[in-house]
Amino acid sequence: MSATIIDGKAFAASVREKVATHVARLKEVNDITPGLAVVLVGEDPASQVYVRSKGKQTVEVGMNSYEHKLDDDTSEEDLLALIDKLNNDPAVHGILVQLPLPDHLNEDLVINAIDPAKDVDGFHISNVGLLGTGQKSMVPCTPLGCLMMLRDHHGSLSGLNAVVVGRSNIVGKPMANLLLRDSCTVTIAHSRTKDIEAVCRQADILVAAVGRPQMVTGDWVKPGATVIDVGINRIPAPEKGEGKTRLVGDCDFDSCAEVAGAITPVPGGVGPMTIACLLANTLTACCRANALPEPEGLTA
Ligand code: NDP
Repeated sequence: MSATIIDGKAFAASVREKVATHVARLKEVNDITPGLAVVLVGEDPASQVYVRSKGKQTVEVGMNSYEHKLDDDTSEEDLLALIDKLNNDPAVHGILVQLPLPDHLNEDLVINAIDPAKDVDGFHISNVGLLGTGQKSMVPCTPLGCLMMLRDHHGSLSGLNAVVVGRSNIVGKPMANLLLRDSCTVTIAHSRTKDIEAVCRQADILVAAVGRPQMVTGDWVKPGATVIDVGINRIPAPEKGEGKTRLVGDCDFDSCAEVAGAITPVPGGVGPMTIACLLANTLTACCRANALPEPEGLTA
């Protein structure tokens, strides 16, 4: 293996530390404590784990955490009423509605009911439009985390060829927009892309956000390229015992690491950065709401 491992766990810890330092200063100098409200509808076990983890990390960096757990059969009207209340609560600077929502709730309607200035997930259509037109916005957490790691590793990204595999609204498209904003030459590949291996081999920066375990192999990677593996896939791991599983990315780590210059592992790469960036976004939203300078190095 020749690639440098980009340690997302350590990077996320450094982001949390920066956030905590800034939050402490906000409290001391301005008497302001950033607050993040997380809304969970239903009992989805994975969502419950995420929400718990978000709440814990929010408190650890010194912010206020407000958790709202609603029943599975909560009506759209009641959910929208809660969002309206949070929009108008000056103690709440960030609002996150944990996705997916139960089927009877319209996700677009709910997300677009959040005040864009408090939309720390960056999914509100106004934030999508602002990002797409290169203006100041709230930026989705996972791509923001990828961008931070890339900037840290490369310094300037200007002029680099970037290929993003995946065109989802939560990862692929915002990632491509962020890379474009940092003056990369950007290609978005997807399930209909012809000769995708050859397209990927052009990339100085290859971001895989596909949801297919170990799809990208070393022969897709340009020697020396930086590979950012967003995928989180659980696959059977009979070597660990019957019925056991393990997490893998969208990249085949071993073969990609032979060729790449740098690579994020799974787990321990992009994953830990997502919540760290949620905290960074909440801090940014709080600073903007109070017309204070934004935290350096924590925004796009
Ligand atoms: P989506 O399913 O929404 O999008 C997947 C994209 O991959 C689509 O654009 C699809 O193309 C493309 N795709 C699917 N199959 C292929 C293929 N064979 N060749 C090329 N492209 C293909 O996924 P998400 O963007 O939500 O998530 C992607 C991965 O990232 C998942 O593993 C997810 O778990 C992980 N993830 C990790 C996060 C983290 O915190 N680290 C956060 C969010 C996601 P098309 O549009 O043509 O169908």
